[in-house]
Amino acid sequence: SVKGKTAVITGSNSGIGLGIAQELARAGANVVLNSFTDSKEDHALAARIAQETGVEARYIQADMSNGEQCRALIEKAGRCDVLVNNAGIQHVCPIDEFPAGKWDAIIAINLTSAFHTTAAALPMMRKAGWGRVINIASAHGLTASPYKSAYVAAKHGIVGLTKVTALETAQEPITANAICPGYVLTPLVEAQIPDTMEKYGMSREDVIKKVMLERQPSKEFATTEQMGGTALFLCSDAAAQITGTTISVDGGWTAL
Ligand code: NAD
Repeated sequence: SVKGKTAVITGSNSGIGLGIAQELARAGANVVLNSFTDSKEDHALAARIAQETGVEARYIQADMSNGEQCRALIEKAGRCDVLVNNAGIQHVCPIDEFPAGKWDAIIAINLTSAFHTTAAALPMMRKAGWGRVINIASAHGLTASPYKSAYVAAKHGIVGLTKVTALETAQEPITANAICPGYVLTPLVEAQIPDTMEKYGMSREDVIKKVMLERQPSKEFATTEQMGGTALFLCSDAAAQITGTTISVDGGWTAL
């Protein structure tokens, strides 16, 4: 169980990261929330989780586009039994118009940050004699969509990094897996709706139904609570031999 263990969740002041932090806290894990901002609201979020669940919850500012700050986040946490690499951004644009700066930022935040945090966390997990690395990939870690070149490349990349992490820890009580969500209605997905409306000349409702959930056979968004529950399962003893693999929570998307 995660009771008394420390979980660091990158990019967790909103959306899936926050959902996972809340679920792990409910199960008794001390949690470290993170994003690149350092606002009153960020710290209040941690205080609220601590109050609601009775665990220790802290907010540590660190920009996941910066390798040194990724490593500093883990050092400042002081302990990291569960590492959830969740921070991520998206940009929707054809390859030949894709801004190079956006490409670099997406690769840095969605992929390279996980290399740095994992490198910093593994020695702590080894010392503690237990660890879980949970990378939040995507259905786009296994399949592709047009106009999401950097995102799809980064997510396929993090699935590869997950496998290597698993192999390097295979004979230790540490596992590494990737959760591959389909569409979850978070601020990240909200932000794609206007661009997609423009690209396809569609209304908001049609983008949701005909573009987003078109790929998701269940015709329902997955939820942040379901991501939290899946992360919690990966932390359980039942999942001790599950390593180096992906778990899709995508309403059937990758079965198509
Ligand atoms: P979100 O925008 O709500 O959350 C992204 C989080 O990352 C936020 O907390 C944000 O502050 C943080 N973040 C962004 N840039 C950062 C930086 N430079 N440093 C530190 N933190 C940073 O979006 P979400 O949908 O909750 O996305 C979370 C993860 O789930 C992402 O990796 C995303 O690719 C993945 N994902 C989301 C969906 C979906 O449908 N929402 C589907 C598959 C995968």
